[in-house]
Amino acid sequence: MTTRILVTGGAGFIGSHYVRTLLGPDGPGDVRVTVLDALTYAGNPANLDAVRDHAGFSFVHGDICDARLAARLMAGHDQVVHFAAESHVDRSILGAAEFVRTNATGTQTLLDAALAAGVGTFVHVSTDEVYGSVPTGATPETAPLAPVSPYAASKASSDLIALSYHRTHGMDVRVTRCSNNYGHHHFPEKLIPRFVTTLLDGGTVPLFGDGLNVRDWLHIDDHVQGIELVRTAGTPGRVYNIGGGTELTNKELTGLLLDACGAGWDSVEYVEDRKGHDRRYCVDWSRIRDELGYRPRKDFATGLAETVAWYRENRAWWEPLLARAAL
Ligand code: NAD
Repeated sequence: MTTRILVTGGAGFIGSHYVRTLLGPDGPGDVRVTVLDALTYAGNPANLDAVRDHAGFSFVHGDICDARLAARLMAGHDQVVHFAAESHVDRSILGAAEFVRTNATGTQTLLDAALAAGVGTFVHVSTDEVYGSVPTGATPETAPLAPVSPYAASKASSDLIALSYHRTHGMDVRVTRCSNNYGHHHFPEKLIPRFVTTLLDGGTVPLFGDGLNVRDWLHIDDHVQGIELVRTAGTPGRVYNIGGGTELTNKELTGLLLDACGAGWDSVEYVEDRKGHDRRYCVDWSRIRDELGYRPRKDFATGLAETVAWYRENRAWWEPLLARAAL
């Protein structure tokens, strides 16, 4: 039987990769996908060019905070995979209102509509940033939430709202919390695409503070693999961390990006640290490994080389976005 999946935020970086994968040759084959996306500065219709003519694909331009639209759409769908969000920490420091509106109110609006329509599984895609900074070790799903940035706080709010619909109404809500994603089609405001596009143009890249903040890097192929395992085999009401297994300081990552782009350290400018900059994120992803068989498959060196090559070869995709990426 065909499963009808509503994918919110499917014109963004990760959501579009999820949709291209679901409807691609390695996808499950028995799904129809509707993307609901407001096409904010981060949403890009070109990200969906590969699936636009697929018989199982449709696109709805709209806002997840629009309750009437959400109610109308939910009625025709069996499952929801919810990516739509304001996702850039630096923008949330400049102004948090849109983050609370989209990430918290938007998620609640979708949950209400899904509950009323009797939708089955609702996968809520979240982030490791909800746990806050972890000096050592790895954060399990049972750790308290301690978000620092307004972005992380709005995502933590959305996680709690989503889980409340499971606890209160018995809805089949599943939450994923992943580490930093990288890969192609990444909007050039985030560290890797920003550095790569700037270095390919011979520019100077900004490194926050002492450059020793640590992030775990997860390739979008592996994130999509994890989400699919949770959608198809996860347990209702459960949270699943999804990690990539490659921890690097921003300085180490910068060194790799300089090498890949043929630039030197004279292309790096140390800038004042981001306000409230979390020192380190690291999730314990043993639950999704042990329960669902998840393993990150993409070796980081290979994934990074492929990503840089994609940006070299796809200037037509990113050059028009540079003006929109500037804060
Ligand atoms: P993105 O910013 O690239 O894409 C977000 C998409 O949501 C865009 O297409 C945008 O148009 C859409 N959108 C925004 N507001 C909307 C609204 N009100 N109604 C409908 N659509 C709206 O984000 P991304 O990097 O692809 O992240 C996807 C999800 O994964 C987010 O929920 C984010 O919090 C989470 N996440 C991302 C990362 C990462 O490294 N990028 C890491 C952990 C978690």
